Amino acid sequence: MSHDDLDLRWIIADTRLLVQNLFRNVEQTRNGIRGRRGGAPPAAKSAMEAVETFEVASSSQGDCAVCTDAMVMGEIGKKLPCGHCYHESCILPWLRTRNSCPLCRFQLQTDDAEYESKRRRE
Ligand SMILES: [Zn+2]
Ligand SMILES: [Zn+2]
Repeated sequence: MSHDDLDLRWIIADTRLLVQNLFRNVEQTRNGIRGRRGGAPPAAKSAMEAVETFEVASSSQGDCAVCTDAMVMGEIGKKLPCGHCYHESCILPWLRTRNSCPLCRFQLQTDDAEYESKRRRE
């Protein structure tokens, strides 16, 4: 085996290690982002107040995804800007803990300035 071959082997081994570390970093970054999302801030009070309130007028309204019960005629519902509807009594407590629609993850405005500026940069 020539000396050059040996050098090449070292380079390959080095590169492999580098790539492995890179993947590990990407994985960690991904997990970090996921962790941040899990800890999403609650929706801003103004954003919650801006959510359209309606009275369920037909039996074909469908189910509320928070409690999985049907939305019964005459009940008070909330319609998020994304178009998804929930019971008022279900979605308000939900939005007090996180700012996204349970079905499509549409995000409502928050009071968290740091979160908002991060969101704009994404
Ligand atoms: Zn409900
Ligand atoms: Zn939605």
